[in-house]
Amino acid sequence: MSVRIRYAPSPTGLQHIGGVRTALFEYLAAKAGKGVFYLRIEDTDQARSSAESINDLYETLRWLGITWDEGPDIGGPYGPYIQSERFEIYQQHARRLIEEGKAYYCYCSEARLNDLRSLQEKNKQSIGYDRHCRYLSREEREKAEEVLAKEGRKPVIRFALPENDSERIVIEDVLLGEVKRKVKDINPDPVIIKSDGFPTYHLAHAIDDTLMKTTHVIRGQEWLPSAPLHVLLFKALGYQAPVYVHLPMVMGKDGQKLSKRHGDTAVRDFRKAGYLPEAIVNYISQVGWSYDDKREFFTLKELEECFSMEKLNKAPGVFDYKKLDWYNGHYIRQKSEGELKTLIMPYLIDHALVADPPSAQEERIIAAMIPLVQPRLKVLSDVPGLVRFLFQDVPVTDPALLVPKNCTMTDVIPWLQKGRDLLAAGSQSSVEELEQEFEKAAQAMDTKTGNLMMPLRVSITGSTMSPPLFESVKLMGIGEALRRVDRSIELVKQSL
Ligand code: GLU
Ligand code: ZN
Repeated sequence: MSVRIRYAPSPTGLQHIGGVRTALFEYLAAKAGKGVFYLRIEDTDQARSSAESINDLYETLRWLGITWDEGPDIGGPYGPYIQSERFEIYQQHARRLIEEGKAYYCYCSEARLNDLRSLQEKNKQSIGYDRHCRYLSREEREKAEEVLAKEGRKPVIRFALPENDSERIVIEDVLLGEVKRKVKDINPDPVIIKSDGFPTYHLAHAIDDTLMKTTHVIRGQEWLPSAPLHVLLFKALGYQAPVYVHLPMVMGKDGQKLSKRHGDTAVRDFRKAGYLPEAIVNYISQVGWSYDDKREFFTLKELEECFSMEKLNKAPGVFDYKKLDWYNGHYIRQKSEGELKTLIMPYLIDHALVADPPSAQEERIIAAMIPLVQPRLKVLSDVPGLVRFLFQDVPVTDPALLVPKNCTMTDVIPWLQKGRDLLAAGSQSSVEELEQEFEKAAQAMDTKTGNLMMPLRVSITGSTMSPPLFESVKLMGIGEALRRVDRSIELVKQSL
């Protein structure tokens, strides 16, 4: 039997990097198993679900190259693939469970449940729901129904856990092996249909994973505590439980669950910041999985071939933003100049550095600057900051910025003057010749080449970090460069 594996997000927010890692592992497990990867949208929490989240889901997966074989948008043999359209299916199953004595209506009011909770808290008990409605007589039930009808309330449906508290439950998990629990580990009589008629996740997924023929439920480890209930639900429905793969969580470097505090978490924000899909896919595949502890680079295609669930780690994965930057830099350097140009164009336009479409002069600068920035980029959004000076003149206003560490304003004037003269004299020289001239001059002035270069770089580019200076000067034109240096010399002199 070939595998069928799904990604089943609740559309209640933007796709999180941790969720997408789950989706990637599911996709890869399906591909490696020559099976089907399908998408199911779990929107039974109607109040929290949104169309925006659904769009974000589609866009994010498409952008990453994670394609699905069946799903809400393309259909498939076991649809509908969106839970809100399966309302009747859940109702039928719940009715069947009630008829078979495996589930029952609970009429308890919020107030009663709250009282119960406070009482237990006071007595330091944690029994949970007291199964009040499980053993009602026929008359009591009819009375309760009348009361609810008057109040305009609908009962919930609860699952009747086995009476034998010490009954054993075994969860088959590829990563964790056989996880053994007892009925008493489950909070008694969980709600399976809410008062709005929608099922809870527990019931809905058990039904859907059966009807949609899921072979492996791969999901976050936060679901492990509910797994015993799920196994019982499958059994009560007369279905066979799937094999589980509970994935270790994704943590920040401090060992806490990855969250906004650590940095971006929505994939959409990584995309905006200029991460490439190849880098994200490659990096997150390594958070909790490794091929052989050595190999680090994988394309999605390669992962599809060599992924195996057995090689997933049991320990939590640590999300390292620096490592992601490193992968991103790697993939940026793999791009051809043409590809990189297409990728950075939106950033140049958004920052109003060039017109849309760029003028011929701007096109010339863009084409020439690409090889200068390509080795230096971590993310695409670094581009505007690095190259702004090529398109705009942003004067230095604070003379202190022109002074290297441990040097003074007075030191800087001869350095700037010398740099200016060398640039002017060397306007026809090659970059190598200019470098030699600067080294010689620094020696003669008994200082480091860096001290000669730094004030010059800041004067011309506005920053201590820039693409290679001599190439940049050639690009922007020597006249403009000299004008900016002269302005800096004036600024320093005035501040003395
Ligand atoms: N809708 C659940 C969630 O988003 C799915 C968990 C699962 O994969 O079964 O957490
Ligand atoms: Zn009740």
